[in-house]
Amino acid sequence: MTYLQRIRKIIQRAIEEGPSEFLYLELIAALEAYEPFINVQDRLEKIWIREVEREGLLKRNKGVTAFDLASIRPQLRDELERRIMFSVSLIKQNKQKATETTLQRFNGWLSSLPAVPEVREAQLSDIRETAKDIAKPLKQLPYDERRVAIDQSQKLISNLNQIVAFDCGAIGAYWHSHWKEANYDYREDHKKLDQNFFLIRDSQAMRDGFVKKGGHEYLEDLPEQPGEAIFCRCYYEYVYRLNRVPEECLTEKGKDAI
Ligand SMILES: [Zn+2]
Repeated sequence: MTYLQRIRKIIQRAIEEGPSEFLYLELIAALEAYEPFINVQDRLEKIWIREVEREGLLKRNKGVTAFDLASIRPQLRDELERRIMFSVSLIKQNKQKATETTLQRFNGWLSSLPAVPEVREAQLSDIRETAKDIAKPLKQLPYDERRVAIDQSQKLISNLNQIVAFDCGAIGAYWHSHWKEANYDYREDHKKLDQNFFLIRDSQAMRDGFVKKGGHEYLEDLPEQPGEAIFCRCYYEYVYRLNRVPEECLTEKGKDAI
């Protein structure tokens, strides 16, 4: 039985038997049986397998070796665990909120039922509509779950890349926006950042005197990172080799080293 069918049954009994505490508890039980539609943990684990176990991260981090990746595996695993924890708790919170609102609506409806069975019976024909109306907050849940899954997947990928970059000596990164992609609702200020290069403060290459600011900003100083805003699919392409660094950021020593 779906949760909506269970709610319909409870409403029907309320009309037939009159309001009672028991029916309220029945509804709580019905709502607790509601299961999320998306297995977000499974989704995030699949990303981890693709990016870490099958070394997909190496494609976006040219210059990092499989050995480097293996050496930071525990940090990457921690990030996966964090994303799973956040996703599960966000989805749980959404469900709690929707459950509370649904119970409130049910209570409101229950309290307004006429006292006499013959008068209540007139409402039997509207059970379907009443159930739908009471359960409205639950209808939003699959959408919320999907949003959490997309958002946390994006953040997982972005943070895995960030860990690799900072642990494996990235010099800087190019911001990439998907603004050219059809039907992608891009942010205007992210479009402006597309292909811009940002330095990582105090990278090994900077400490060795190969790179300088050259009018560019530090990645850490940006008020917002790619993929941080909801549904933002921007990402960094991290740079590990001097030949991918814009010329104005190279010192003489850096140019000689290429
Ligand atoms: Zn963006």
